[in-house]
Amino acid sequence: MTKRVFIKTYGCQMNVYDSARMVELVAPLGYAPSDSPRGADLVILNTCHIREKAAEKVFSELGGIRHLKRAKERRGERMIVAVAGCVAQAEGEEIRRRASFVDLVFGPQTYHRLPEMIARATRAAGDGVLDTSFPAEPKFDHLPAARAAGEVSAPLTIQEGCDKFCTFCVVPYTRGAEFSRPAAQVIAEAERLAEGGARELTLLGQNVNAYHGAAPANGPNGGGEWGLGDLLRALARIPGLDRLRYTTSHPRDVDDGLVAAHRDVPELMPFLHLPVQSGSDRVLAAMNRRHTADDYRRTISRLRRARPDLALSSDFIVGYPGESDLDFRATLDLVVEMGFAQAYSFKYSPRPGTPAAAEKQLAEPVKAARLAELQALLQQQQGAFNAAAVGTVMPVLFEKPGRHEGQLVGRSPYLQPVHADAAAAHIGDILPVHIVGVRGNSLTGAIDDGRGREAAR
Ligand code: SAM
Ligand code: SF4
Repeated sequence: MTKRVFIKTYGCQMNVYDSARMVELVAPLGYAPSDSPRGADLVILNTCHIREKAAEKVFSELGGIRHLKRAKERRGERMIVAVAGCVAQAEGEEIRRRASFVDLVFGPQTYHRLPEMIARATRAAGDGVLDTSFPAEPKFDHLPAARAAGEVSAPLTIQEGCDKFCTFCVVPYTRGAEFSRPAAQVIAEAERLAEGGARELTLLGQNVNAYHGAAPANGPNGGGEWGLGDLLRALARIPGLDRLRYTTSHPRDVDDGLVAAHRDVPELMPFLHLPVQSGSDRVLAAMNRRHTADDYRRTISRLRRARPDLALSSDFIVGYPGESDLDFRATLDLVVEMGFAQAYSFKYSPRPGTPAAAEKQLAEPVKAARLAELQALLQQQQGAFNAAAVGTVMPVLFEKPGRHEGQLVGRSPYLQPVHADAAAAHIGDILPVHIVGVRGNSLTGAIDDGRGREAAR
């Protein structure tokens, strides 16, 4: 009888990628994916530690899972419960203590051992497995090569971990030291994805542009390393791959090779998520960001000279310990000056074990007021950016059915969701779309087939 695995994924795209790989890892053990934990034989919570109260959310979710597990046991059946990801890495012992019914606890660097951990948990009923080590052998060498999931737009992790130690961030503690996959391994996975129908790849990494993977033995710089720019050039040559993106980058790691790739590689989409966090040099120094606001300005002008239509996204933290009103104004000024197509912004919130958590914290109402002011400005910029698309014709990669019958949703080169009437057969096509309106943060349009335009919904 087929067994069922349910995975709940929290957080970033890297976790989404990891969850997909876990599904592949357990498939040979007879587990088919399920979209509910009810009745599942294996339940995995793939957790994220970036947001506030992450651990509490996991414990609350586990409360419900415990009831399902007990119900299954009353029927004489077994449910293996696993907590994976960054909360598992940071709070492994605590999870084992507070939720003893959890069978497996493992961090992001050890999930390639999942089949072995399942076997151990099955044998040693009730004993549990905790694996939050940072193994010397890179997990990517031990993952199955299968992977041609048939997605139009597919994520591909090329780099993991971070050595930057920004004072607010848990990533260096939960994902470990920076590691880049060898270029040949990335290219092979990209070729499989393209054969499976992917037309767009998003290269993922916590610090993706710090990429420095081993160069393929028979390519340029064989025996040495490739930067992200070299890798993008090689991926652009794979037949069928028409769009490349990468996220998330650090301003310090935008090197000349990457800027040149933005100039020379048409497949590299003109949209870049480059977090700046703050516009104040004082705050940036306290955050250990290792760049100033002017460094950021210079980097953006280099990129815009290389690719004049480049649209920008960023991350911001307001209310970092010691942030004055003047510091916050400097952030607003930088936003006005740069102009963002979209952005994410957060109130600083302390993460246990990070240096900034030990600092004196700003009052909550101050943080809330600053966040509201920044978000209003960013929303206004996003609105203006989207409004400027109306009346233009943009190539849209259609990814999936829309909300209405006969409608598809795709993405513009600038990552804007675009809704248009189109037959399902167009999923996977890149078609010119005449943009006619803005709805929320997405665009509506009609396929421009050169014979006049269909009306948009
Ligand atoms: N590596 C990326 C970089 O260098 O900016 C960011 C990675 S982090 C997963 C995503 C975003 O979460 C950060 O850019 C930051 O804005 C936000 N973030 C991280 N820790 C935070 C904290 N303690 N409080 C508020 N926001 C936080
Ligand atoms: Fe975290 Fe990014 Fe800083 Fe690394 S560079 S510590 S991932 S915010």
